[in-house]
Amino acid sequence: KKFCDLGLSKNVLKAIDDMGFEEPSKIQEQVIPVLLSGVDCIGQAQTGTGKTLAFGAPVISEIEKGGSHVKCIVLAPTRELAVQVNDELVRIAKYEKIRILPIYGGQPIDRQIKTLKRGVDIVVGTPGRVIDLINRRVLDLSAIEFLILDEADEMLNMGFIDDIEEILKHANEDRQTLFFSATMPPAIRKLASKYLKENSKQVT
Ligand code: AMP
Repeated sequence: KKFCDLGLSKNVLKAIDDMGFEEPSKIQEQVIPVLLSGVDCIGQAQTGTGKTLAFGAPVISEIEKGGSHVKCIVLAPTRELAVQVNDELVRIAKYEKIRILPIYGGQPIDRQIKTLKRGVDIVVGTPGRVIDLINRRVLDLSAIEFLILDEADEMLNMGFIDDIEEILKHANEDRQTLFFSATMPPAIRKLASKYLKENSKQVT
């Protein structure tokens, strides 16, 4: 399979070409068509398998261009991962006017609030800071098209499960949801069965 056979937008294909990637990884080949078909997905994938592009490419192909509301939120367990995901999404969005904002604790919150008020399309954040900004009514997830939970098992290990549920409750129900996890403990399966649609696909 080639990237151009997967249904991605021209601008995303151009960006992938600039990144120098020649063919999709196994997880990308499976996840990209599922997300483009509008279906929820749970993917078992380790870091280094290309999972960021697996969700980033279809999300950036599909989200509404323009408007001032947040269209996608990516939740990551650590600021390092949030920064890494942000940087990869910026590269995929090279040919689109898409504003991407990483938000995590330890950074001045005032600047994040100012940027959110100006309008952001994709937020990549750690759970604590995301909840803080929801509670301050500056982050509104009521119109998101995609919610991505990255490294779900790590979130669990770090004690973020209640925070994740809180965020999921604030997100509109009419969205697509994707969970990525290296392992699939019962708590993750339970979370998935609660928050992913019934026709969701599981890929490994
Ligand atoms: P990730 O699993 O998302 O952390 O990606 C691991 C690394 O692989 C990152 O540096 C990506 O930029 C790179 N990568 C992602 N997709 C591909 C691909 N199809 N071919 C080669 N490298 C890739």
